[in-house]
Amino acid sequence: MYLSDYHFHTLCSSDSPAPLAQQAKAAMAAGVREICVTDHWNLLDQQGNRLPAVYDWGPSLAQWKKLRSRWPGRLELRLGVEVGNGVLDSAAVDASLTLPELDFVIGSLHSQSARAGGLGIFTAARACAGKEDGTAILDDYMDMLEELVDTRGWDVLGHIIYPLRYIPAEYGLDLHPWRDRLAEILRRVISQGKGIEFNTSAGATVDQWREVLALYRDLGGQVLTLGSDAHRPQQMAAAFPEALELIRETGFRWLCVYRSRTPLFCKIDS
Ligand SMILES: [Zn+2]
Ligand SMILES: [Zn+2]
Repeated sequence: MYLSDYHFHTLCSSDSPAPLAQQAKAAMAAGVREICVTDHWNLLDQQGNRLPAVYDWGPSLAQWKKLRSRWPGRLELRLGVEVGNGVLDSAAVDASLTLPELDFVIGSLHSQSARAGGLGIFTAARACAGKEDGTAILDDYMDMLEELVDTRGWDVLGHIIYPLRYIPAEYGLDLHPWRDRLAEILRRVISQGKGIEFNTSAGATVDQWREVLALYRDLGGQVLTLGSDAHRPQQMAAAFPEALELIRETGFRWLCVYRSRTPLFCKIDS
């Protein structure tokens, strides 16, 4: 099996203390053969303030270049980025994604829309006072996904179930009420030859993906990456055995890796 972890962070992300070498070693210890480092580039902070719409590739590129050839035959190390709320300035995002070494871009939404106040979804979800607040967060999130899917600066949509990580589970919310809108978003992903990721969130979310994966597959979706979203070495490839089981159950027989923003399909059982 050629296992890949296509979403994790290092100390080039403000919320991760992990050097790339430690993340890479943890991946190898978990049986992973290829990883793509996807540090954060957010266009908004948790309070809704704008951050630079130009990405400084310096630290991330230097870290990757130092290690890219260190484990020949054991670990393929690729360079990516996770763009947060790139929909705010998609022309600026495109301009920062011309780096020749760049293989892969995750398009994520970590913050609410300006209309909703622009708070980080994590912050907004933790302040939820009831099911109605959670529903409003998901409504706004779907509005933004519909905008994001028509921009260019991403290869896979990041953690589509993101608000469900943080909205209190006691409200019993899932994406089912938004199924038709989600289906239309996924059709637009597929028609562009792009994809989605299965993001285990350091092992915290596996079963929450079942409906999304099954719907995507039913619609003809093929391009799928798997990522742990690890911010620490012990989270690398977290819950991958369970995730692979669900991937098989929902009809996928492969995972994608990327070269120069183009997916390659790797069989998960061979
Ligand atoms: Zn993210
Ligand atoms: Zn991430």
